[in-house]
Amino acid sequence: MNSRNYIDGAWHDLRPSETAHNTSPADGEVLGTTPVSGADTMVVAIEAAHAAFPGWSATPAPKRGELLFRLVRILEREAETLSRALALEEGKIIGEARGEVQKAIRYVEFAAGDARRLTGYTAPSELSGTFAFTMWRPHGVVGLITPWNFPVCIPLWKMAPALVAGNTVVLKPAPETPYTAHLIALYCEEAGFPKGVVNVVHGDAAPAVALIEHPHVRAVSFTGSTEVGIRVSSRCAQLNKPVQCEMGGKNPILILDDADLDKAAIATAQGAFGSTGQRCTATSRAIVMDAVADAYVAKVAALAKAIRAGHPLEDGVTMGPSVSERQMEKVVSYTDIGAAEAKLVVGGGRITALPKGYFPAPTLFDHVSATGRIATEEIFGPVLSVIRVATVDEAIDAANGVQFGLTSSVYTNDLSRAFSVIERLDTGMTQVNAPTMGGEAHMPFGGVKNTGVGPREMGPNAWRFYSEEKTVYINHGGARRTSSFY
Ligand code: NAD
Repeated sequence: MNSRNYIDGAWHDLRPSETAHNTSPADGEVLGTTPVSGADTMVVAIEAAHAAFPGWSATPAPKRGELLFRLVRILEREAETLSRALALEEGKIIGEARGEVQKAIRYVEFAAGDARRLTGYTAPSELSGTFAFTMWRPHGVVGLITPWNFPVCIPLWKMAPALVAGNTVVLKPAPETPYTAHLIALYCEEAGFPKGVVNVVHGDAAPAVALIEHPHVRAVSFTGSTEVGIRVSSRCAQLNKPVQCEMGGKNPILILDDADLDKAAIATAQGAFGSTGQRCTATSRAIVMDAVADAYVAKVAALAKAIRAGHPLEDGVTMGPSVSERQMEKVVSYTDIGAAEAKLVVGGGRITALPKGYFPAPTLFDHVSATGRIATEEIFGPVLSVIRVATVDEAIDAANGVQFGLTSSVYTNDLSRAFSVIERLDTGMTQVNAPTMGGEAHMPFGGVKNTGVGPREMGPNAWRFYSEEKTVYINHGGARRTSSFY
């Protein structure tokens, strides 16, 4: 599983001193090597993408879509290879990895169909003999910077709309998950994208910063932490580049006093502990009405205790490791903070029975203050904070009282209460009687406040971020009335 940079249709090796080991977070096994590229390598990729842009943007959009449909068929054929690589290097269990790969395939398929839907707008002109319409033009080279937690889905849900709209792309994937990005480049090569249209450069901040700074890069799409994302969006604003950032989260599930508690507990456990709590849509706060809180906490605690952590490829394992030692240490430090702030019901610390891997214990805190650190800061691990409230208004205030706003969920059997909560929650997405996580290819995905800036990803309009609308007036003769205003 050695990863290489893919630039201008060729595979580039760096010197051994410029590579790092890619290791499994489950047991420390060395899986292969990955390039640690600098700004110089990134500039070579940007220049290749720039040179490829005139040819690619002039290719009819349905032809561009055909290459994406070809990529879909390759991804379907290679789904198991990709899922296993994902499970090994990121740590999610194989079932979750297969789910991520399927979701990525469905999204590329949806975006490929957009090739025939890059539609503009026509309107009657106020001038006679004039036809007025709009059309969409690609930006040029676009820079895509992605995190490790969905290393198949997120690169593909950025690449597909960017390519279909006629841009050439340079992807800078997360350093923790290089091999899945390497496989994506390999499949793009097989699909037959012309050289320079798709480029992948591995490394961390240095190539990412070079990508943002380079004048040939006309737009940037970033997913990652709020801290880095705010830096990216501020710099893009200074450089006057369109930017889209999807960042951190602290997603709440609201349990009202008429909820089906069994279903609510299962959804909570899936959202909080699934993917080791490393989904951007993970449930990290359960805001529960007092009347049902004791029963609900008992049910979620039982589900947390039943989790079996272990190697992601092993049968019967229901939770993999954190992606890295650093990430596990961060989670453990928050369970220490939580022990001082609230009542520890299950877990805390790391799983000492699995010393070779980075396994934090599934953890449940009760009686958490809505303003405490574990209730307001992103932990990104299998840690759930239960906040007890007396009223729906108090639940809404607690839910909205954080800087983040990706997704939310409410459990209730009362339709009027559900609609009232949907309208008042400050999140980009809300689920009713369903876990916080999930999202479909043809539905927009994204957050508000310090979670999201710029237009939504996925859904029918995703390609528009990667395009500029141009307005055209054609004077086709006849008795054209002139106007003194224009
Ligand atoms: P991160 O911010 O550390 O890194 C993200 C990417 O940015 C990586 O490719 C990294 O190499 C690059 N990077 C690092 N320094 C940079 C710099 N100075 N300038 C530009 N790029 C730089 O995030 P992570 O740890 O990889 O991912 C986890 C975070 O991603 C969590 O906060 C999670 O909530 C968030 N996330 C959000 C969504 C969403 O849709 N809102 C989806 C997935 C993940």
